[in-house]
Amino acid sequence: MIAIPDSLSGLRPRRLTAAFCICLLGLAVMSRTALGAERMFRPPLEIPLYLAATFGELRSNHFHGGIDIKTQSVEGFPVHAVADGYVSRIKVEPGGYGHALYIDHPNGYTSVYAHLSRYADEIKDYVRAQQYARKMFSVDLFPPAGRFQVKAGEIVAFSGNTGGSTGPHLHFEIRNTATQYGTNALQYGFDIVDRIPPTIRKLSLYAMQDEGAIDRAGKTQLYNAVKTGAYYTLPDGHIPVITGDFAVGIETIDMMDDTPNQDGPYSIRLYVDSVLYYRLEVDAFSFDETRALNSLIDYATYVDTRDMIYKMYVSPNNRLPMIKEHRNRGVVSFKEAGLHCIRIEVADIEGNTSVAQFYVRHEPCYTPPISEEVARLLQPVKYKQRQHIVEDGITIDIPAYALYDEEDIRCTVSPRLPGMFTPTYHIHDRHTPLHKRMTLSIRADSIPEQFRSQAVLVTFNNAGMPVSAGGTWKDGFMEGSTYTFGEYTVGLDTVPPVIRPAMNMDGADLSRMQDIRILISDNFSGIKTYEGTIDGQWVLFEYDSKNDLLTYTFDEHCPVTGASHTLQMKVTDGVGNTSIYTATFKR
Ligand SMILES: [Zn+2]
Repeated sequence: MIAIPDSLSGLRPRRLTAAFCICLLGLAVMSRTALGAERMFRPPLEIPLYLAATFGELRSNHFHGGIDIKTQSVEGFPVHAVADGYVSRIKVEPGGYGHALYIDHPNGYTSVYAHLSRYADEIKDYVRAQQYARKMFSVDLFPPAGRFQVKAGEIVAFSGNTGGSTGPHLHFEIRNTATQYGTNALQYGFDIVDRIPPTIRKLSLYAMQDEGAIDRAGKTQLYNAVKTGAYYTLPDGHIPVITGDFAVGIETIDMMDDTPNQDGPYSIRLYVDSVLYYRLEVDAFSFDETRALNSLIDYATYVDTRDMIYKMYVSPNNRLPMIKEHRNRGVVSFKEAGLHCIRIEVADIEGNTSVAQFYVRHEPCYTPPISEEVARLLQPVKYKQRQHIVEDGITIDIPAYALYDEEDIRCTVSPRLPGMFTPTYHIHDRHTPLHKRMTLSIRADSIPEQFRSQAVLVTFNNAGMPVSAGGTWKDGFMEGSTYTFGEYTVGLDTVPPVIRPAMNMDGADLSRMQDIRILISDNFSGIKTYEGTIDGQWVLFEYDSKNDLLTYTFDEHCPVTGASHTLQMKVTDGVGNTSIYTATFKR
């Protein structure tokens, strides 16, 4: 008899007919108390803490680096320093974290607060002075250690919705100061109620050999997970037939008490016939490695459907420290035909656990014997090497360790599309992720001289629409770097940005207005720079890129002499097309 922790006694597996598989293991329940380091920090907000997102949640091309604390759908809650320390960094940007603040603490951690509506006055004045001195809205400031000392609980800012945030909340992180590794803030014991185990949505199987298949049809099969009794399993008791070596995947979300948000799990374990094949714990990651998320998930399915499935196969170039253990890279390989038990345990950081369990019928696939020499050639080496591919009209340079797996890079060509200046190059497969950017150079000397400064590399989105991939002109070629395989060609961006006031502006009396708001957008290469002046003097327009909105809040930099003023806004796109908007107003 194996003891089962009390909290999991409801999960006792029933005896199954294929009795050789007893998928019963000591469920190592990871709770935050097991992680130590209790109560090093006070909470950053003085409202009940409900989360909209957890640390390490799967996002497009990155892991979520912090926890998102809900702010009751409004902005402006005071944000408190979570411990004594000093403000080490202040970053302002139109997208991303918006207004962000970093505090270094003597305990070796840095707390990060993002999407802020504004900073506490003393910090706000410092930032504004720096913005005016540099004539830039975007700043990344590193005040000296003694400049802004803070005490635990001190108000340092106010919560908001700036940057890439799509609703008011506080994005909060705890990083290791020395390594800048993001850590899971929940391991430090904030009061968050979570008694709900994760939900398992889908289960997937992957044939890992060329000759292999799942259910005799295709390399990948996705199944909706169904909950029967204590376990999740496959619909209708389905027992998949697997030919050859295989890997397993799971789509899962976690929910917490009293909030509808769907968060990520903390740990995932895969057992095959009671043998551990894979263990993931979302405790920390380095921001340089965040793109390796694409090798943690079933990237091909993500590209096609946006479903994010944890694929429990570990690519040779996947070095994520959150993969704690694996057996044979998660690839299950049996020599004999037979029935096997797959068991997956998913837990949140509080230890609430869900289990998926099902059987598969395995049959080995026939692989012709290979010579020793061929076997040596099949050793994984390519991803470790730089690949420099020169074809007619195109050069592709893929740096070492850019690929997660062994890949034979393919490049094919199709005729020029209307409006484009070069053939379309189909570079490998957009279902294959890249960890580092590859460099592309496409011969584009058919573009007349006078248009070359407006040339851009063009790729295509899922809907087949052309999108700019940037690039610069170099000796008859358009050269650029990209993380994405797929179709590339060269086109022109000849349309300058659009500037329009978001309010009644020209000739208006703005004496009673607090701010000037202007909308800016660009159709192709995107906004690169903007500059707003009043009577020739630079003023701070804050840029909210998700809303295409520039806002100048009247301050002491608006000239006071004369009743009439001239506003000029100059906006330039990625290839240098420029638009200028001017208006006069009274104030
Ligand atoms: Zn966030």
